[in-house]
Amino acid sequence: MPNNNKELILSAPLSGPVLTLANVPDAVFASGAMGDGIAIDPLNDTLYAPCDAEVIHVARTGHAVTLRADNGAELLLHLGLDTVELQGDGFSMLVKEGARVSHGQPLLRYDVDKVALRCKSLVSLLVITNGERFQARPITLEGVKVGEPLLHILAKAGGQAEHHEQDGGIEVFGQVRIAHRGGLHARPAALVRQTAQGFKSRSQLHFDGKSASCDSVMGMMGLAITEQAQVHVSCRGSDAEAALQALLATLSTALVEEAHASAPPPEPPRANAEAGVLHGVCAAPGLVTGPLVRLSGIQLPEDIGGHAIEEQRQHLNEALAQVRSEIHLTLEHARARQHRDEEAIFSAHLALLEDPLLLDAADLFIEQGSAAPHAWSRSIDAQCQVLQQLGSTLLAERANDLRDLRQRVLRVLLGEAWQFDVAAGAIVAAQELTPSDLLQLSAQGVAGVCMVEGGATSHVAILARGKGLPCLVALGEALLAQAPGQSVVLDADGGRLELTPTAERLAQVRQAQTRRTALRAQQQTLAHTPARTVDGVEVEVAANVASSAEAGASFANGADGVGLLRTEFLFVDRHTAPDEEEQRQAYQAVLDAMGNRPVIIRTIDVGGDKQLDYLPLPSEANPVLGLRGIRLAQVRPDLLDQQLRALLQTRPLDRCRILLPMVTEVDELMHIRQRLDALGTELGLSERPQLGVMIEVPAAALLAEQLAEHADFLSIGTNDLSQYTLAMDRDHAGLAARVDALHPALLRLIAQTCAGAARHGRWVGVCGALASDPLATPVLIGLGVRELSVSPPQIGEIKDRVRHLDAAQCARLSSELLNLGSALAVRRACHRHWPLG
Ligand code: PEP
Ligand code: MG
Repeated sequence: MPNNNKELILSAPLSGPVLTLANVPDAVFASGAMGDGIAIDPLNDTLYAPCDAEVIHVARTGHAVTLRADNGAELLLHLGLDTVELQGDGFSMLVKEGARVSHGQPLLRYDVDKVALRCKSLVSLLVITNGERFQARPITLEGVKVGEPLLHILAKAGGQAEHHEQDGGIEVFGQVRIAHRGGLHARPAALVRQTAQGFKSRSQLHFDGKSASCDSVMGMMGLAITEQAQVHVSCRGSDAEAALQALLATLSTALVEEAHASAPPPEPPRANAEAGVLHGVCAAPGLVTGPLVRLSGIQLPEDIGGHAIEEQRQHLNEALAQVRSEIHLTLEHARARQHRDEEAIFSAHLALLEDPLLLDAADLFIEQGSAAPHAWSRSIDAQCQVLQQLGSTLLAERANDLRDLRQRVLRVLLGEAWQFDVAAGAIVAAQELTPSDLLQLSAQGVAGVCMVEGGATSHVAILARGKGLPCLVALGEALLAQAPGQSVVLDADGGRLELTPTAERLAQVRQAQTRRTALRAQQQTLAHTPARTVDGVEVEVAANVASSAEAGASFANGADGVGLLRTEFLFVDRHTAPDEEEQRQAYQAVLDAMGNRPVIIRTIDVGGDKQLDYLPLPSEANPVLGLRGIRLAQVRPDLLDQQLRALLQTRPLDRCRILLPMVTEVDELMHIRQRLDALGTELGLSERPQLGVMIEVPAAALLAEQLAEHADFLSIGTNDLSQYTLAMDRDHAGLAARVDALHPALLRLIAQTCAGAARHGRWVGVCGALASDPLATPVLIGLGVRELSVSPPQIGEIKDRVRHLDAAQCARLSSELLNLGSALAVRRACHRHWPLG
């Protein structure tokens, strides 16, 4: 038994199944308030010493004893729950305070039947009471016999930095009803974790006799907290009260549900009555045909053992770090395209990947001799099992997110490629696809996907709907028995996979596909003509893009220009800064992709929620109010000059328009104008590009007239303008439903911006997400906006909306909206005045 005076292996003091503390049916022990440790549901009648030690305390009622091990760890051995109430009846203590005991010596005996009948539970605890110095890691979570290794005790490193304070300070409690739809599943749990991590205090949730740390998404999901359930929250530390209030708010504010959550619940799979047809549940609608292709998951080679523990740990840590940075990238792209569902799903994945339960279990398996891939796989399997046994479909579906992380980490560990061997147009069949698989398959252009398992509320289903990819789930094992390559029909709306369609049926589906494509083509033809209101006001409908490829697609969709190129996302997937020439080429590529249309290129907008690996900025106490946007000129003027030089070298310059983010005063604009002049002269240019200002802080809207005097155009960033006007974090999932740019306060700022610009004959556009909301189109036109920069797939829709409006009537009715009291009231009025088709 190693004992270098810091580490110690404790053997089992009782025989029986082992439980983690979180699963002990006692809120105090489960919360960890008594300390770190483990529990056993005993099958024998004697408690034995788990190591050599001194007896430092014996309970008067004989049900518990505390030992001090030779390394200083203090161990409470507590037999049963609430056994203090038996007042010693049924217990006989075999040792006295101050005695030395040796490993394996009997400490107390009890009458199993008597105690079992009268106490709440026989589950017994082994807890370290001086947890500030020691931590405990379970060696096994399976059944043990007395004397078998049970718990690894390690001294905590002296100055080890911890996210939270060590125990201490006040402890406060609160209770709250869970508002999240479907209960506390992965996304809300990730949000709770994010909230808790903003505080120094340690926080826990307690539900149904079990507890979990708010640092662990897995732990919280393991509590199986249902919607509307009452949970208790405890916080201990110097900022406990503030942490408690924040957590209560997060738990009681429902997440905005994904766009399709309000769709009627899917039909359950029906009996397989028709020959040649598999029935499933529709997760994303559509009717397509294509060859069936089967995908299988990663198979692990046999673990041959004999690994160096530290080497395996390092492999796993490196793989985890790589997957984390890949997920960060996915998140950046999702944010850039405002794909909120995608963002929420992968944020939850990131939280899971940092989950102490998963990481500790994997580490334990490595310590026990597993190779890194096997250890990771076993850790995931164990947690999947927990989720699947909770009796909640929603939580069982979340096991698929864990399987996603298994695959991603295994791919890195085993060096497997990401690309699937699947041709565009195929219909993919799989046991169950993960969210990452789905994104990859969609990028490869498959026609549809079908799964043996899965559910219509799974993250894969949400993503499939977002990508417009027809998807059937819960088709059963028969799916994988089908011969690959056969032409099938996937009728997702009807919940059917037709395995042996006749030539006639195939032709019919192909015809339907062609009709749909033709309809789209027709809309696109219309989308290429300018959008004018019925009374002849022209509104430019441009696109928000993040790359030249997206610009090309938008041009094909009929965009009148690029209304916003977010340059910070052009170079998001790299670790070194692009030089001037690389930047010039990237901007030129966007101009080239847009024919003869104008392109508005925004100077780099880092800081706040947008970070670039190659541009580390000083850490900020309050980043959203810190050095972001044009304020970069203050800290890195060289970077801004480099970007302006690259922009000045694009051609033709009259199509390149420069937009400045986060402007708050006229001097910022004047400074950049002077830099543009000076750099233009250095480059021998006679021409200058137009220079515009983003209106995304209230100060800029209020100063619109002064800004418009020196700017060529104004473009309203309603995302940040909402955040700063309403004092609500635009990325706060719990507030998402309320960060609504149709709030009358924002409409007043938009009206003031348009009025200020008009005094100097400047035009105003909107490039925030409000421009893509068809309900807002008449309001924006009514207030004087003449350019809308929208998400590329919506160009046709928004142009169509414009063509059905009367600008004069919009102006009249919009001015009345300024007097309403809330965004909801504005939305209701919009539905009344300008119903959506
Ligand atoms: C905005 O704030 O509305 C905007 C368009 O800029 P971003 O979303 O990139 O901050
Ligand atoms: Mg912005």
